[in-house]
Amino acid sequence: MSHNAESTAFRSALEVIRAVEPRVADAIGAELTDQRESLKLIASENYASPATLLAMGNWFSDKYAEGTVGRRFYAGCQNVDTVEALAAEHARELFGAAHAYVQPHSGIDANLVAFWAVLADRVESPALKKAQVRQVNDLTEADWFALRRELGNQRMLGMSLDAGGHLTHGFRPNISGKMFDQRSYGTDPATGLIDYDRVAEAAREFKPLILVGGYSAYPRKVNFRILREIADSVGATFMVDMAHFAGLVAGKVFTGDFDPVPHAHIVTTTTHKSLRGPRGGMVLCQPELADQVDRGCPMVLGGPLPHVMAAKAVALAEARRPDFADYAQRIVDNSQALAEGLLRRGATLVTGGTDNHLVLIDVSGYGLTGRQAEQALLDSGIVTNRNSVPQDPNGAWYTSGIRIGTPALTTRGLGTAEMDQTAELIHTVLTQTTAGANADGTPSKAKYTLDADLADKIARQATDLLATYPLYPGIDLS
Ligand code: PLP
Repeated sequence: MSHNAESTAFRSALEVIRAVEPRVADAIGAELTDQRESLKLIASENYASPATLLAMGNWFSDKYAEGTVGRRFYAGCQNVDTVEALAAEHARELFGAAHAYVQPHSGIDANLVAFWAVLADRVESPALKKAQVRQVNDLTEADWFALRRELGNQRMLGMSLDAGGHLTHGFRPNISGKMFDQRSYGTDPATGLIDYDRVAEAAREFKPLILVGGYSAYPRKVNFRILREIADSVGATFMVDMAHFAGLVAGKVFTGDFDPVPHAHIVTTTTHKSLRGPRGGMVLCQPELADQVDRGCPMVLGGPLPHVMAAKAVALAEARRPDFADYAQRIVDNSQALAEGLLRRGATLVTGGTDNHLVLIDVSGYGLTGRQAEQALLDSGIVTNRNSVPQDPNGAWYTSGIRIGTPALTTRGLGTAEMDQTAELIHTVLTQTTAGANADGTPSKAKYTLDADLADKIARQATDLLATYPLYPGIDLS
């Protein structure tokens, strides 16, 4: 792909947008500048390829296509069929999955589709049988009442939020926490690692319908073979949400016991994190759940987003190329180099290191809350996010942790030497930041002091670090 073609494509697009609403064109241009200039260490973000981005900006966005490939509730879906089938085929091939459903609009949607599929598959109910053979719209109020009664009080066992689990794994602010009677498994307080014996014990006591594996902020590999054995021992369906580490599975860094696909009954993911695709979600499953999963629209989802499915097909095709495996390995090499750089300088890391794409710093060692650390780093041009650590005394809002991840910087081309320099910048900011006090003299969890000149100096060093690795080198908007 010539750089010229990419520049021409994006310049022309902005020109067309500018003619209608110049402020939107300006904001799009400004976002590129901001992304180019910031040291992005947000573990859940990445940079999709120009081809993936361009696949989203077109008339596929205009099309309604409820239903599935070849079986739509709207006419004229032949081209949507093509891209949806392609995305699903790439997903199946890439992950070795029996079935792929690429319609979910986001990770949360993918999880809802999966929960409903498991419920529908597992719970014997006359009302539910009716739901399977009839349109949802045909269900009467009485049907819904019967359905809710039959489905009620189903149990989910997932990783606790402060140990790194996700809101959608049964927690109150999310619908999953209202749908399910939830219990969580944590990590060993001494090591920070999942204690599989404790998970087995919790499963035996609680007897969940669904055992959920997967995480947003756990810096280690998970043994999915053992979790499947635990699920089987209590008759639970084993679901894995691999939203964060799908790129490492795709790139064959996580294989054998650490690849969830052969072990789980159902796997959900986002497509925009380490997988480096468009914003969206996906469900992979074993054949017996395929029919239920395919009912995601209209059971849970509205009309699919054909432009995003087109972009998923492009990104998944990219992930099947040999260089994606190299990318995935470099993500982990970089993450480990960052962890080692921080440890060498005296930082405390949850679990003492990492074997995936993310590192969780316990910033209480620097006398800071996660909120103070996050803001001080942002002042210094380093974009991260605060995150709870296990048994966090500061709760989910202020937190005691900073989560950092390497998928985005690895896409730019930064390597292990630059990760060591990044560790130096982070450590300098955190050691030079002091926690502030409230007006009444009590310690503040939000206020902090950081010398503005030092913050500027670090921001310049961060920009220098990035200068050798331009973001979207093929795109020149000037
Ligand atoms: N699952 C996990 C493990 C996540 O980390 C996230 C997002 O952070 C989601 C699901 C939700 O994804 P989305 O924001 O696309 O709904």
